[in-house]
Amino acid sequence: MRQATAETGVLVYAFTCGYITLPTTYFIAGGEGKTKVPACSFLIDHPDGLAVFDTGFSDRFVGLEDGLGKIVDMPEEHPIAVRLEALDVDPGAVQWIINSHLHLDHAGGNRMLPNATVIVQEQEWDFGFAGEDGAYSTQDFDIGQTVKKVRGEHDVFGDGSVTVFPTPGHTPGHQSARIRTATGEAVLAGDCCNFRRSLDEMKMPENVYNADHYRGSLESLSSLRRAGARIFYGHDPDFWSTVPQATELNMATIQS
Ligand SMILES: [Zn+2]
Repeated sequence: MRQATAETGVLVYAFTCGYITLPTTYFIAGGEGKTKVPACSFLIDHPDGLAVFDTGFSDRFVGLEDGLGKIVDMPEEHPIAVRLEALDVDPGAVQWIINSHLHLDHAGGNRMLPNATVIVQEQEWDFGFAGEDGAYSTQDFDIGQTVKKVRGEHDVFGDGSVTVFPTPGHTPGHQSARIRTATGEAVLAGDCCNFRRSLDEMKMPENVYNADHYRGSLESLSSLRRAGARIFYGHDPDFWSTVPQATELNMATIQS
């Protein structure tokens, strides 16, 4: 891969870091049957450093026939460290992890980026230890990494190119990221918007932490999409199959 410079601006790469199969209503109300969805992760190459947005599942699921009762599928080439090494990126060189939230399909790979500082909303960090939600696995994120707890918007590199902003509802402290690139603006939604259809129909999952907040987050994403941003939905297998993997993304070609 080429390296980001002042000339290229921020470069973004997408990776699938495991799959999980769950009842479709977990992702969208009224959904039928079950859906196998990708855990989505992104490398953000900024001239001043590397960031990873969400780290997918832990490599402890690799080779497990029975990943969480057969619902997690983690091929051996999927852990975020393996994905980065395939691009000749040293996982130890990643400076920032941006966790949309701390569920195990989003923070599972944090330990594979040992020198990174974790950027997470303070409310999310605290809720991760509350014991109210079984999708948090503290062994994935309570590992002594430096944690930068933020409240509200945060400009990661100080130049407005990568900004996190709160999109609560799925969890109390969920956040998404806006990225300005030379080919257009990207919004890495995380689980505030699982499918393209969630946004088209303004439809939430059957169970959410806070429905009013969730609706507000969908509305924020909807206005960003209307303004031309490419939305990267959190768990949409159909959309995701159109996103080139492990190669520099051209936002102008992303059909969101
Ligand atoms: Zn998720």
